[in-house]
Amino acid sequence: MAANIYVNEIELEPEECILHKGAKVNAICESCDEPVCLRCLLGSHNGHPIVDIQEARERVREDLLGHRRALRKEIKRMEANLRDYTEKEAENDRECGLALNKIRKRGKTLQTQLTKLLQDLENEVKDRQEQNQRLISEHKDPLESQIKNGHIKTERD
Ligand SMILES: [Zn+2]
Ligand SMILES: [Zn+2]
Repeated sequence: MAANIYVNEIELEPEECILHKGAKVNAICESCDEPVCLRCLLGSHNGHPIVDIQEARERVREDLLGHRRALRKEIKRMEANLRDYTEKEAENDRECGLALNKIRKRGKTLQTQLTKLLQDLENEVKDRQEQNQRLISEHKDPLESQIKNGHIKTERD
């Protein structure tokens, strides 16, 4: 926050007239927008509209206070926006984190299911291979032993 928001004292005008040494400035000439002393008022600023120096200071002070209020309001608005974005940021992290966890969990389940499915299929094929082997052996083994032992049966036997 800029320090000028908290400025309380401002040197508005010189206390002594720049034209008349020792003469106190007690008004602002509105036509010339210059600080003036009594001698100025009787001289070059004769007849010009003037504002009391205290009144002029009060006006500037009120202006400054107005600016300060506006600035504070703006800062509050910006801080609220920042909180908003910070919340959105946290929400984004939270939601995406949840989504990632879901995906990973689902991935693990699918991997387990796929591994089991492949294992089942493999077992099925192995079982079939064994069954077929048994059936084949039932026919093949007697033939082999018959040939080995010379017990060949023919149509004519
Ligand atoms: Zn003067
Ligand atoms: Zn003047």
